[in-house]
Amino acid sequence: MDFKSTFADWNVGFKERPLVISGPCGAETHEQVLTTAKQLKLQGINLFRAGIWKPRTRPGSFEGMGETALGWLADVKQQTGLPVTVEVATPQHIELALKYNIDVLWIGARTTVNPFQVQELASALKGVNVPVMVKNPVNPDLALWVGAIERIYKAGIKKLAAIHRGFSSYENSTYRNKPNWEIPIELRRQLPGLPLICDPSHICGNTFMLLYISQFALDLQYDGLMLESHFNPSAALSDAKQQLTPEQLEELLSKLIVRNPTTDNALALSKLEDLRDQIDEVDDQIVTLLAERMHIARLIGEYKFNHNIAVLQPERWEEIVRTRTLSGVEKKLTEQFILSLYTLIHKESIYQQTQQMEKEKDAEGESKFSNH
Ligand code: PEP
Ligand code: MN
Repeated sequence: MDFKSTFADWNVGFKERPLVISGPCGAETHEQVLTTAKQLKLQGINLFRAGIWKPRTRPGSFEGMGETALGWLADVKQQTGLPVTVEVATPQHIELALKYNIDVLWIGARTTVNPFQVQELASALKGVNVPVMVKNPVNPDLALWVGAIERIYKAGIKKLAAIHRGFSSYENSTYRNKPNWEIPIELRRQLPGLPLICDPSHICGNTFMLLYISQFALDLQYDGLMLESHFNPSAALSDAKQQLTPEQLEELLSKLIVRNPTTDNALALSKLEDLRDQIDEVDDQIVTLLAERMHIARLIGEYKFNHNIAVLQPERWEEIVRTRTLSGVEKKLTEQFILSLYTLIHKESIYQQTQQMEKEKDAEGESKFSNH
């Protein structure tokens, strides 16, 4: 999939990074939607969002106002001039959204996980000229995210964007949905022409970390931000804890620093080049050292095979983690980084050792065979 998409073709008044999408988690009442939208209009947002059909984890929660609320969004367009976007999860949602001239559609995280459902949406989008934003699936699976984008693209939708809203996990975390930044970074490497939007609201699940996550996303050169807002967040029927008032949104936006992708200051550029050359050299050494380490691991595999010793000795692993952490922390690396790094190195080491042991076993089997 080789394409370039830009918000400039979306008819959402986009002039500069970041594109700002805001509005309530869910459209609840005519008053809530209109009051919030009018206040947001003053903050200069590009696109007004509101959930019309809400995918809720448990039944009995507020599930959205459906078609009635589409009429409210038509009023938002008419009274503020703001373009509007809603989540669609079924072909019928698409049909209704288009009937009410919704400007942009988005596919939610719980839909992206299901290729059957995404394909149904793709089929319903054939021949339609509407921009579509695809949220990441709830689970940290890049291929599923890319697959959903491909299905929509193949249906002829070329105005596309991805929304990063974080990934759910069973363990407790400071995040509602862990960002796992390496996944959107890899998405960007695989699909460089695809605009990337961050949804800090669903990553954080609260309002106090929103600025930090928004700034982090901008520093990774995201193209847009989707932030939930409500004229009275504490009364919201869904996601009350993570919604900002329009004034709070304005404050957050005013604090963001949009850094440039590069600079035309020749001196700064040459200094950067120089530092990057140094990084390239260090990386080369890292790869050489890792290859050496794995070579030794294979020798150990051979030795363990010949002496019938098990691959994993938990005490040895324990000792590696302890000593490497001590030495790493002394050198200003974090404990978490050392643990993650060595978990990866150790996994590869064990793999290399077992491969070697398999080889030894096969060789032994062959020589026995040839002796008979
Ligand atoms: C939402 O945007 O309100 C929503 C339901 O998001 P997600 O699909 O990311 O959970
Ligand atoms: Mn929400």
